[in-house]
Amino acid sequence: MKIVETAGEMQEYSESLRRKGRRIAFVPTMGYLHPGHLRLLEEGKKRGDCSVLSIYVNPTQFGPQEDLDKYPRDFDRDEKCAAGVGCDIIFYPSSAQMYPEHYQTYITVEEVSNNLCGLSRPGHFRGVATVCAKLFNIVKPHAAIFGKKDFQQLTVIRRMVKDLNMDLEIVGIPTVREADGLAMSSRNTYLKDYERESALSLCKSLKLAAGLYDKGEQHTAVIIERVETFIRTHSHTAIDYVSICDTTTMKDIGEIEGEAVLALAVRVGATRLIDNHVFGEPIDW
Ligand code: AMP
Repeated sequence: MKIVETAGEMQEYSESLRRKGRRIAFVPTMGYLHPGHLRLLEEGKKRGDCSVLSIYVNPTQFGPQEDLDKYPRDFDRDEKCAAGVGCDIIFYPSSAQMYPEHYQTYITVEEVSNNLCGLSRPGHFRGVATVCAKLFNIVKPHAAIFGKKDFQQLTVIRRMVKDLNMDLEIVGIPTVREADGLAMSSRNTYLKDYERESALSLCKSLKLAAGLYDKGEQHTAVIIERVETFIRTHSHTAIDYVSICDTTTMKDIGEIEGEAVLALAVRVGATRLIDNHVFGEPIDW
């Protein structure tokens, strides 16, 4: 496994792979890898003959009061995990590489960024879109693999790729969960033992909502009310949002007719967790 730390070297290497007709599959991450990330890498191995993982905690997607400084980092551990699933290259740039002095170009994906995490984390998707566009230009992938756990992020990236005619395929992978249903996240390491039961209120409430929908409930206000009430019965929880949106526009809807997603962001103690469920898709936890 090769480790590349500069944008220039990565671009040259990717270009040489492309000249040899190799297909590059790319998994962008902020590191502190867990089985969800590794599932993405495995998918990358299937979809390309060279898999590139990037590890970069991107400062432009964090707000001033957020957890940029305390975000977990352990490169040695990540290197072993990535090698274990046969990753070919880790791109591991510094901020001096990604945002050198005088850096001033940002990408704003408009409507789909405005709701949900875009409301509670102003500037977040501007940072995400910008870093992904840069990484795509550096790694030059044929396909990039993202998790559906960050559903709005995936929608924003798909929109950007389409709108800017970027020549790569975006692949979305179902959320990988712990045995008890908790969506895997690098931020789960922040959870205290006594908060774990409350953290499960997210995935349990998705199940509750799916059950209501399966019984014929289509009024989003009814489902949202039940979900919020359920989450509030758990200690240490503070709801950031519970929304049901159209999956293309990411706008709130009143009735579930076309494809719709229930998206949640909940603070459990000091940890902000997100989860989601697209109505009609299987619930396997
Ligand atoms: P992150 O390192 O949190 O920025 O995530 C990097 C990529 O891994 C993103 O595409 C995430 O959506 C994806 N990801 C994170 N957690 C999971 C999970 N539990 N299951 C599937 N994909 C995930």
